[in-house]
This record gives sequence, structure tokens and C-alpha cells, in this order.
Amino acid sequence: MTSLGVGLIGTGYMGKCHALAWNAVAPVFGDVERPRLVHLAEANAEHAAKQSAALGFEKSTGDWRTLIADPDVDIVSITTPNVFHPEMAIAALEAGKHVWCEKPMAPAFADAGRMVEAARASGCVAALGYNYIQNPLIRHMKKVLAEGTIGNVHSVRVEMDEDFMADPSAVFFWKSEASSGYGALDDFGVHPLSILSILLGPVEQVMADLAKPFHTRRTQEGKDRAVETFDIAHILLRFAGGVSGAIQLSRSAWGRKGRIAIQLFGSEGTLLYDQERMNELQIFTRQGKASEQGFRTVLAAPSHHPYDKFIPAPGHGLGFNDLKIIEAREVMRAVSGEGAHIIDFEKGLAIERTVHALAHSHRDGCWVKL
Ligand code: NAD
Repeated sequence: MTSLGVGLIGTGYMGKCHALAWNAVAPVFGDVERPRLVHLAEANAEHAAKQSAALGFEKSTGDWRTLIADPDVDIVSITTPNVFHPEMAIAALEAGKHVWCEKPMAPAFADAGRMVEAARASGCVAALGYNYIQNPLIRHMKKVLAEGTIGNVHSVRVEMDEDFMADPSAVFFWKSEASSGYGALDDFGVHPLSILSILLGPVEQVMADLAKPFHTRRTQEGKDRAVETFDIAHILLRFAGGVSGAIQLSRSAWGRKGRIAIQLFGSEGTLLYDQERMNELQIFTRQGKASEQGFRTVLAAPSHHPYDKFIPAPGHGLGFNDLKIIEAREVMRAVSGEGAHIIDFEKGLAIERTVHALAHSHRDGCWVKL
């Protein structure tokens, strides 16, 4: 069998991240054949050719359907704005290609449902870009919880904040358009929901309040345009296992650059993690003298697999792009029929359902049962 042929659609922030991951996955892990970077699609042919040369692809096109029709492409990375995900993912799956699609699945829940049906009908792998669940320390948190280190978890609090929309004069772009979804709720909210689904299981009921810090923004052309999405979301959750949770999201939080601060509180202790310090896990347990209690910091190390695949020394740190390399390895595992640590379209639909229930809650001012 020849190695996996990769097609990449979109080469912005996430497209480059996927390209780096496909380039690095074989040398980092050393146990898979190097994927072939076959075809790259961008919004126009000129940009596609430039990006293809920069990122190491064999062919390029300004029409993503040409990439999907390419028999040398086995898997399609979809890293375009949200509005394109359903059409591109369904077309790829119908053409018998595996798919690795960025989050969220789709702005409309019905489209996410159609994506799941296409994945089922194709029998292909349909993975979502939930890179944070790949952090060796997030994986380790699951182990710490299972071992009962902090006892029975009763509550969780997550804050996910960035400041790329904090400036009132930040330019109106696709993330301000309703066609992209609700705003922070799906753009950000799906990440904490993905992590909590791994750590705490399914959500049973939800409530949300969404807010717009700025009601208009200036377009590239210098005109005022009404902002159609919500840059702020406050969420309450009840998990099926009884855990009570809160998630706060903001794309307009000055000073916050990539915060995903998770606090898990249990009967015996607390676990803290923040994506801005993604190589640290803080653990508090109530044992010992009260006068010497406090959080201890665990630094990521080779014992937190697959950190060991990157660096032999503890405490030297992984970065954001490394999470995507780990995710690429998991996607390849799924393609070769092994058990993989991914959120596929099927599992991802539960996250989409939660997002839409939250939007419903905001609209109707009530709790919504899932
Ligand atoms: P971006 O604007 O930086 O990049 C989008 C790219 O898609 C651009 O290069 C654009 O030219 C290209 N594109 C647009 N229409 C196209 C078309 N019809 N055909 C081919 N290419 C087209 O956006 P981004 O920040 O990379 O976001 C892309 C996706 O990645 C979004 O769904 C977003 O939610 C997701 N994302 C995920 C993470 C994560 O941590 N997993 C982080 C950021 C963004």
C-alpha cells in the first residue's frame, strides 16, 4: 500500500498548522510512513500555487472540487471558514476520501447531521480538529481523575479568553458574520466542551447568555457594519454524572491570548490547567499538614505520552502546533483501523447539539435539556 495522500483545503492559520502536522508526523512518531502532500486548494489559483510551494505540496488548484476529484488524494484536511465545512466534507466523503475537518462542524445543526450521515455512508474516517484534547497533560488529567486523586468531582469552571476582537476598531471579518455561526459560543465553546466530554462525559442540560461588546465594526472598505455574532458567552451546564459546570468565553478579553483555564473541584482536591501554560498541571490534595498545603506544579515530561516522541527531557515544553502533530498521528491511527483518540463526526454531533441548545437557551431565556 502506498502512503497516505493528503489534500489540504485552506492555508490560513489552521491550514498552515495542518500542513506542518502532515510534514512532521512521520519524523516525530517514527512509526508511520511519511504522508504524501499531494494537492493543495486555496480560494484562487495564484495563492494556491504560492502556498503549495511554501508548504511542500505536489499540485495546487483554485477549485477545491479538483482536489477532491484527485485519485491520489486519500484524506482531505478542511481548514476553511466554518460556512464551507459541510459542503466540502460531504463532497470529500462521497468521493470516498477520509476527512480531517476543523471545528466547529457546521453553523447549522441540520448540516452537522448531514455530515454524520455522509460519514456513516462512506465508511471513511471523519475526524474533527479538537487539538486541545491531544495535550499529554489533558490526557493525564483523565488518568488523575480516574485514579481518584481529587476524589469525586462535583464541579468544573472553564474560562476561554482571547483578545483578537477586544479592540473596538478591529476589522469586521468572517467571524463577525452570522454565516460563521453564533460567535464565541461555537468558535470557542466547542473546545471546552470537547475537553469536558473527554473528562466528564455527556452534558444533560444547559443555559447561556450571549453578549456583543461592540454592535458595529468597520469593514475593510471603511464602512460600518452591524456585528452579527456574539463575542462573549456565559454558560451553565449540568453533566449526566451530576457535575455542575460553568464556562465563560470571550474573544474580547484584553490581555488574554490563549487562555483555556480549567478548574476541576473534587471531594479530595482540585486540578488546574491553563492553555497559556500548556506544559503545567497544578494539583492540590488536602492530605498533609494544613500549614503546608498548597498546589504543586507538574511539568510535562516524557512520562506523559506522547511528549516522549518530541523531546527526551522533562520540562522543556510542547507547543500549540505539536498538538496538531499528535492529532495527525491519531487520525492516521483511525485510518488504519486502530483505536484512535479523536472526536469524530459521530461524537462531534453531541458537541454541536450542546452548542445549539445553548443558543436556544439564550434566545428563550431558559434551561434546555439535551
Ligand atoms: P483563516 O481565515 O486564517 O484561513 C481560512 C483559509 O481558507 C484562507 O487561507 C482562505 O483563503 C481559505 N479559503 C476560503 N475560502 C476558500 C475556498 N472556497 N476554497 C479554498 N480555500 C478557501 O481561518 P482560520 O483561522 O484558519 O480558520 C479556519 C477554520 O479553522 C475555522 O473553521 C476555525 O474555526 C478553525 N480553527 C480551529 C482552531 C483550533 O484550535 N482547532 C484554531 C483556529 C481556527
